[in-house]
Amino acid sequence: MIIIFKTSATQDQVAHVVEKVQELKLNPMVARGTLKTVINVLGDEEVIREAPLQTFPGVEKVIPVMKKYKLVSREGHDQKTVVQIGENARLGDGKLSVIAGPCSVESRDQLFGIAGKVVKSGAIAVRGGAFKPRTSPYSFQGLGEEGLKYLQEMSQEFSVPCVTEVMDNRDVDLVVKYADVLQVGARNMQNFSLLKQLGQCGKPVILKRGMSATIEDLLQAAEYIAASGNLNIVLCERGIRTFETAIRNSFDVSSVPVLKSLTHLPIIIDPSHAAGVWEYVAPLAFAGVAAGADGVIVEVHEEPEKALSDGPQALLPAKFESLMLKMNAIADIVKEG
Ligand code: PEP
Ligand code: MN
Repeated sequence: MIIIFKTSATQDQVAHVVEKVQELKLNPMVARGTLKTVINVLGDEEVIREAPLQTFPGVEKVIPVMKKYKLVSREGHDQKTVVQIGENARLGDGKLSVIAGPCSVESRDQLFGIAGKVVKSGAIAVRGGAFKPRTSPYSFQGLGEEGLKYLQEMSQEFSVPCVTEVMDNRDVDLVVKYADVLQVGARNMQNFSLLKQLGQCGKPVILKRGMSATIEDLLQAAEYIAASGNLNIVLCERGIRTFETAIRNSFDVSSVPVLKSLTHLPIIIDPSHAAGVWEYVAPLAFAGVAAGADGVIVEVHEEPEKALSDGPQALLPAKFESLMLKMNAIADIVKEG
């Protein structure tokens, strides 16, 4: 941490801060310039972060040197994290991992029909929401536990892990009982009590970027899960809100290489919720894979016009199959480069 004093700061004011830093059992290295005095504080920054040094008389600015996220940061973690999902699937192992399925679990038949097709096309996990975060309280809210039961049954039938969203602390134990991976939706990215509980849940978590969240906000949200005991976290870029109205969310493709440079966690992209309409899903998916994403999560439905949520952005299974082939081809080129 670096403490910068105002040009008008007095010797006494500097001495007062030095005293406070020493009281915290940290080492203040004082450097006096012609105009300003600066103190470089050595030691555990966590201790000093809680001390309101910027409010001390004479202090102009306090600059933390340590990142606000240290467990998920690449600094000090040379190895990339590989997240094991279910018994056989992995995310972040160098291969492109694709998760596909309906936005919502609508019925056993609907889920099984889609799952069979996406698994055949190469999906390593099946998604499907049982608790749905809908903008309107009158929209379909999900089947709840019934949907979770279908997901678990589907996982056993197709030997594939399932991914589903948990929206509320009160549902975590229930969702953990049935699901292989718990998803935190964009609207809950900064639900800190939920994040803390997921740190203790014992299952991998997909953390989606909030629609107004910066990359640093996303990493700090992930840090909550990590600091509570769970490092099996996958970050997901799903588009952010901008002034643009032609698309549901602006897909921030640059977040992929930026996140990769900042964290050891796997990064996946969700072109479906960025696009909002199926025609744009493939080009966004290609861009994200070309940018180096470790995986893709995509919505697929056999009858999009009858879907109970997000029908307009759902791909038909045949379109998903051709998307898979092209994404894998792009991933191979990027890997070679
Ligand atoms: C979803 O995955 O169906 C979903 C609601 O996503 P998001 O939280 O990204 O909007
Ligand atoms: Mn959806």
